[in-house]
Amino acid sequence: MLVCGGAGYVGAHAAYALARRGVRVSVLDNLSTGHRQALRWGRWIDADLLDPASLDAAFAEPVDAVMHFCARSLVGESVAEPYDYYLNNVAGSLNLLRAMRAHGVGRLVFSSSAAVFGRPRAPRIDEDHPTAPINPYGASKLMVERILADAARAYGLRSVSLRYFNAAGAASEAGIGESHTPETHLIPNVLRAALGQGAPLRVFGDDYDTADGTCVRDYVHVLDLADAHVRALDWMHANAGAHCFNLGNGTGFSVLEIVRAARRVTGREIAYEVAPRREGDPAVLVASSAAARERLGWTPRHGAIEDIIDSAWRWHRAPAY
Ligand code: UDP
Repeated sequence: MLVCGGAGYVGAHAAYALARRGVRVSVLDNLSTGHRQALRWGRWIDADLLDPASLDAAFAEPVDAVMHFCARSLVGESVAEPYDYYLNNVAGSLNLLRAMRAHGVGRLVFSSSAAVFGRPRAPRIDEDHPTAPINPYGASKLMVERILADAARAYGLRSVSLRYFNAAGAASEAGIGESHTPETHLIPNVLRAALGQGAPLRVFGDDYDTADGTCVRDYVHVLDLADAHVRALDWMHANAGAHCFNLGNGTGFSVLEIVRAARRVTGREIAYEVAPRREGDPAVLVASSAAARERLGWTPRHGAIEDIIDSAWRWHRAPAY
């Protein structure tokens, strides 16, 4: 199994999930945002999707399927540097797809995002909800989904695109967790505030049309995401075509609810200040994952928000990187 981007946050947890199932893993990563310490399973291929010649090393040994996590993933940065995002996320994916085709590899799990939906028009988003990304990051993910649909028709490529809602939590027992520079995500920032690290916590906007005025998100444990990837691989044995599934727990938590849950988990006072809205944030993003549950047999095991925050807390108190 080739895991592209396996030194990053979700990719490393997927590599761990595969290794736990006894799958032989190779990780392709240029460590541009990934971590050398997260390369704990299988051999490491130091290659870059933007350098097609470097991909040959990844396919020198037989590859039965690919998981693809390589991407730039900061929404704000994508607005400021759209060429970087389209180049890395779209052109990079095309290079990978061409290498897969050249080497006769016919199954792919692609790391997509709820950002393909833009500003949702429904309280709970299923796969039939219209896609209308509002930033280059979301657009780049949707473009790849479109390429995969065309590749299914033209070349018979089997693929599953998994649209994550808010990935959170960690497998600190396996020495991996969430570590971004800069860190923009809510739960790591809340936990850093609990530890007295980093800048004071800012809550971006308290005047949204939600119960307490702060944004509502659907947080899903990274190990549950990893499990969905493994299931998707198996599922493609019997299912041709290009498919998309939304992955979330189906329950929304406001920013202030996350702060309160983190206070309960950590036992610490977590101070915050209310700051202006962050550009591009929709008020509510909650998944319907009925399709993943029914078709992939996916059941999140760590759905409780306290469990998710507790696993992130264990990591942030003693991060390995
Ligand atoms: N957020 C916040 N303060 C932070 C980081 C995030 O108030 O330091 C808010 C953000 O505006 C959004 C929610 O928390 O409403 C989740 O943001 P995150 O960046 O974790 O994920 P996103 O939903 O943007 O993918």
